[in-house]
Amino acid sequence: MTNDNSSSPLPLPPSLWAATARPAPATPRLDASCKADVAIVGAGYSGLAAALRLREAGASVVVLEAGEPGWGASGRNGGQVIPGLKWDPDELVSMFGTEAGEHLAQVAGGAPATLFDLIARHAIDCEATRCGWIQPCFADADRSLAERRVAQWQRHGADVSLLDPDTVRTLVGSPIYRGGWIDRRAGSVQPLSYARGLARAAQAAGVVVCGDSRVSALARDGGRWSVTTAHGPSVSAEQVLLATNGYTDGLWPQLRQTVIAANSFQVATERLPDALKSTVLSQGQVASDTRKLLLYYRANHDGRLIMGGRGPFREPAGPADFGHLESVIALVFPQLKGVRCEYRWSGRVALTRDHLPHVHRPAPGLTLLLGYNGRGVALATALGTLMGASLAQPDTNPLPLPITGLRAIPLHSMHRLYATAILQMYRLFDYLAVR
Ligand SMILES: Cc1cc2nc3c(=O)[nH]c(=O)nc-3n(C[C@H](O)[C@H](O)[C@H](O)COP(=O)(O)OP(=O)(O)OC[C@H]3O[C@@H](n4cnc5c(N)ncnc54)[C@H](O)[C@@H]3O)c2cc1C
Repeated sequence: MTNDNSSSPLPLPPSLWAATARPAPATPRLDASCKADVAIVGAGYSGLAAALRLREAGASVVVLEAGEPGWGASGRNGGQVIPGLKWDPDELVSMFGTEAGEHLAQVAGGAPATLFDLIARHAIDCEATRCGWIQPCFADADRSLAERRVAQWQRHGADVSLLDPDTVRTLVGSPIYRGGWIDRRAGSVQPLSYARGLARAAQAAGVVVCGDSRVSALARDGGRWSVTTAHGPSVSAEQVLLATNGYTDGLWPQLRQTVIAANSFQVATERLPDALKSTVLSQGQVASDTRKLLLYYRANHDGRLIMGGRGPFREPAGPADFGHLESVIALVFPQLKGVRCEYRWSGRVALTRDHLPHVHRPAPGLTLLLGYNGRGVALATALGTLMGASLAQPDTNPLPLPITGLRAIPLHSMHRLYATAILQMYRLFDYLAVR
């Protein structure tokens, strides 16, 4: 299969994270063809966590990345390390049955622990904190959702609790919410430093990580896969893992059509003066609220507020495309009115129709893993790690998700059109919810 993209170098887009991350490890281009047990396409959390785990199991691994480690969503996200999937544990049990549903809930709920354990084991320097995630209720009706989530996760032994409106007001620093809940398994990282740290840990374990190496063709060649880069050299591998998520291109037919690659936008304020800093998420929690077009936000180690949310479907054309997020800051945090934003950036998430990550195996030895629906910091780490174990020893390491066939989203070529219509509808629902 071939991919028509050229091999021009991909510079890391500007962001708060790019400006403040730990230095990148050297990841030179693949300079000569070679052999490996496993070739991995994409050096985000999924690909790097899988590579590390495969190497620990004794496999030889080459990771091929079009940009540099963390160039995709893994270096641009909100850095919120949140447990769980979009679905709650009971819903997973209804979808998959008791055993498989409980197992998936346990993997997703335990995903932050997998991430923080990796950070500790490999001494990854990435501003990691573990103070919890708050989901504040945007509308009165959302309180029953919070109650349901707390009850379900408590049954799974998770450290979660309901928060009354006053406590949310104090912890978040916003007067607009009607209560909420806190999940203390969660935390935060500097996302690009974390991706770079994972790449460094994989290299230290013996993984070959090649930046600036866009894969342009995949072909079956005498029982092995030939994974060819746009600049020429190739890797001959027994197995291939595609971990390209929202940046999936035309490398494998139909794969791009199984997800909607949507942009998520973020802005970061100037450093807040101490008097204001102490009023916003002052105990270190991260937050994302319950509206349909959710806002997610946190403070970082040097006292900036980082606000994220949906924006136009296309790539941003300039600061005006971030205006909606800048103006929402003063609506959520009136005390920050007049504070300037110094950084604006965006990245792509991969949305699936069933809101679940997908695993596909369209040919022997070729596995595809994608579709974190905007919640992949912990989950891509956990599923990447499990994928690495499963590729190394499938019999003893079954995956927590079923392997499904590729199903293109109907009318995919028109997705911008209908996704924009859905965004407008969600905006209306959010407006009506608080009227
Ligand atoms: C703005 C934003 C905010 C977010 N905030 C959060 C958050 O706070 N919490 C949370 O849990 N999740 C968040 N997410 C989601 C999370 O970042 C992603 O789910 C996760 O990073 C996905 O990791 P990945 O490794 O699967 O994909 P990515 O990190 O996107 O990596 C895919 C890589 O594949 C490479 N690639 C693609 N095609 C090729 C090719 N042909 N050859 C070689 N390389 C190729 C790309 O260059 C890219 O680096 C956010 C995402 C965005 C964009």
